[in-house]
Amino acid sequence: MIVGVPKEIKNHEYRIGLTPAGARELISHGHSVLVQRDGGKAIGLTNELYERAGAEIVDTAEEIFKRAEMIIKVKEPQPVEYAMLREGQLLYTYLHLAPDPAQTEGLIKSGCTAIAYETVTDRKGGLPLLAPMSEVAGRMSIQAGAHALERAQGGSGVLLGGVPGVKPAEVLVIGGGVVGINAARMAMGLNARVTILDRSLDRLKYLDELYGDKITTLYSTIDTIEDLLPITDLVIGAVLIPGAAAPKLVSRKHLSMMRPGSVLVDVAIDQGGCFETSKPTTHQSPTYEVDGIIHYCVANMPGGVARTSTFALTNATLPFAVQLANKGKQAMLDDPHLMNGLNVHKGMITYEAVARDLSYDY
Ligand code: NAD
Repeated sequence: MIVGVPKEIKNHEYRIGLTPAGARELISHGHSVLVQRDGGKAIGLTNELYERAGAEIVDTAEEIFKRAEMIIKVKEPQPVEYAMLREGQLLYTYLHLAPDPAQTEGLIKSGCTAIAYETVTDRKGGLPLLAPMSEVAGRMSIQAGAHALERAQGGSGVLLGGVPGVKPAEVLVIGGGVVGINAARMAMGLNARVTILDRSLDRLKYLDELYGDKITTLYSTIDTIEDLLPITDLVIGAVLIPGAAAPKLVSRKHLSMMRPGSVLVDVAIDQGGCFETSKPTTHQSPTYEVDGIIHYCVANMPGGVARTSTFALTNATLPFAVQLANKGKQAMLDDPHLMNGLNVHKGMITYEAVARDLSYDY
């Protein structure tokens, strides 16, 4: 199969859909890989690295979309991209169709077969192609929070780990899933004191077994949150209720309970945010202040560490990419988890939640 990897064109998107090592794997299975010139340049993945892996460097996206039987990307196709897709072509990328009727219509019109990373499942009921980005965002949330706590950034001037003779910061992680556990690990690594809240007793038990007395696990209620806010320096919002907007767990009136200069990092901002005062921000201007509390609400955190994120993404997407390249659409018939990724096929929405949200026939 001919696999095409165009350069990402969304604003400030520096990731690329396939690493040189990923290209080499596909080529070792007998496939051809076309990579757009300079597609990975911004993160040090040069044309030479792709060529050394056996890929062909192609000058334009047009040529890639014309020649490739499968397109591998990172972000959802932009209007100029879905206009180039055609019937029978495979598209393998993040799509997030439910809030995006224009893209959905574009994919329907193209007749292509679109597989969304975010709905591919695994045997444990997880979302294996979303998890790597949650790992990145979770780890990054502590870095971002630590920076925002610095006085020059408007923060309270607290160092997460303290120093001998000065107590460390208190970090509260709300939601102990993939983001939460990765945030907790980073905070622990910096010697902060960490409390994790969750509504799942199984998850709290798991975290307790894993970390013992290095962390405090508590059941998540309004009472617990109100008890902790006055003594917390950094709050990480990491909750997810699948298929729903994030619940608002910290309200505006709660902000006055916190010490001025304390920091809220709302990782769940891509689901609407779990703090009432959250609004999406960008890597260019990541923080703002409300009632003396610093908010960091970047909606695409992994994009900030595009190189690490690209490697993490290819690690997760590659096994399915190889199956798709080897078997074409039959790969989905053979693997129900990959089939769960199918969102659009031959002009039809094939993913129930998307069809329902956008009122299409399913
Ligand atoms: P996950 O499903 O692994 O974990 C979510 C956890 O939240 C679960 O353990 C769940 O029990 C818990 N939870 C639900 N309601 C709760 C409540 N009221 N109080 C406490 N805990 C509660 O999800 P995840 O992969 O960790 O993702 C978390 C959020 O981060 C999602 O909204 C996801 O979309 C978002 N995310 C954002 C970025 C970004 O760039 N901003 C990147 C990756 C993920």
